[in-house]
Amino acid sequence: MTPLENIIRDIIATEGPMPLDRYMGLCLGHPQHGYYMTRDPFGQAGDFTTAPEISQVFGELIGVWVAQVWHQMGSPGKFSLVELGPGRGTLMKDILRATAKIPGLHASARLHLVETSPVLREAQKHNLSSPLAGEVAFWLQSQNPEGGGHAHDITWHTTHSTLPAQPAMIIANEFFDAIPIRQFELREGELFERCVTVEDDKLSFGLKPTGQSHVNQDNRIYETAPARSAIAKDLASLIATNSGAALFIDYGHRKSANGDTLQAMKNHSYCSIFETPGEADLTSHVDFEQLLKACALGGAIPLQLLTQGEFLNAMGLQLRTETLSRNLNGDARDSLLKASHRLADISEMGQLFKVAAITHKDLPVPYPFGSP
Ligand code: SAH
Repeated sequence: MTPLENIIRDIIATEGPMPLDRYMGLCLGHPQHGYYMTRDPFGQAGDFTTAPEISQVFGELIGVWVAQVWHQMGSPGKFSLVELGPGRGTLMKDILRATAKIPGLHASARLHLVETSPVLREAQKHNLSSPLAGEVAFWLQSQNPEGGGHAHDITWHTTHSTLPAQPAMIIANEFFDAIPIRQFELREGELFERCVTVEDDKLSFGLKPTGQSHVNQDNRIYETAPARSAIAKDLASLIATNSGAALFIDYGHRKSANGDTLQAMKNHSYCSIFETPGEADLTSHVDFEQLLKACALGGAIPLQLLTQGEFLNAMGLQLRTETLSRNLNGDARDSLLKASHRLADISEMGQLFKVAAITHKDLPVPYPFGSP
């Protein structure tokens, strides 16, 4: 039994069955034993691989998008370049490299990273102060002497709620899938919340009556994500008040639908969410309809939702891949081509992953999005 399972059993013994969002929050974020608090989960040796870790092209094309929107915003002299859940900092590093030659952009960018994991904060610090980022820092310093250069320009936050009130460009890749959800189940018209309990000395699901009933419904599972919606709404309202835009990339569905999408992953394979709490990644599919509704409530304009394949292809994935591949041969070339295919092909990440964008109401709709 993992140390976290002991803690969870104690809580259940004293407080009763635990709603799923609390369980998920403990598994991912318990200060000592939470999954993200204790490890770098990415890559072959870890549990899963994300788009920025698959290819540098992913972050570079997002960098091009950031540059476009910054121009559309009238090239503000100071803006927050925000990333939520930056992992190893790879995406931000690629964004910075791709935008390094845009006159004035780095000088006006203030980096704000929202990250709860001390292990990953260290990785971000390391990755964003490597030689290339160092060059950027030197250049930044010459542009913006009082800014103190790149290393001083990064502010870490444990929550989005401390982000400063200024124009913001906000990026989040595979962040919202890690924000805890709740699940409800309809049984013969009665609505129950799915809670974690102990049965036969094992963690398992139990049902807690909500007192609500629905007629004419089969037995179904529903997911809600109040924490996710609250974050999306706050970010949208930051943009609505101060100008800016956000790009949210995650796997999930376009329209709200029934069903259980919670999954646990360890060593690149699925496992039970009750196996080794704190040692497996727990995620769920993002309901983009709900996420964008929350953004609209916050006062920002949600744009047409694209698939990751549509977004990357429109941003020039093929051209960038060809340009990079000219300097490569053999295995290196093959793996670059495979990586681009993996990111954008509909049989791989191209369709399941979606790209949502929101903007301030006065901004033109940035390419390649249309109005919804
Ligand atoms: N964006 C990165 C990492 C995705 S994994 C990539 O694409 O590679 C999820 C990231 O979100 C990790 O950095 C994790 O530590 C962070 N995270 C998870 N829950 C969080 C929370 N509640 N607040 C802030 N960061 C969180």
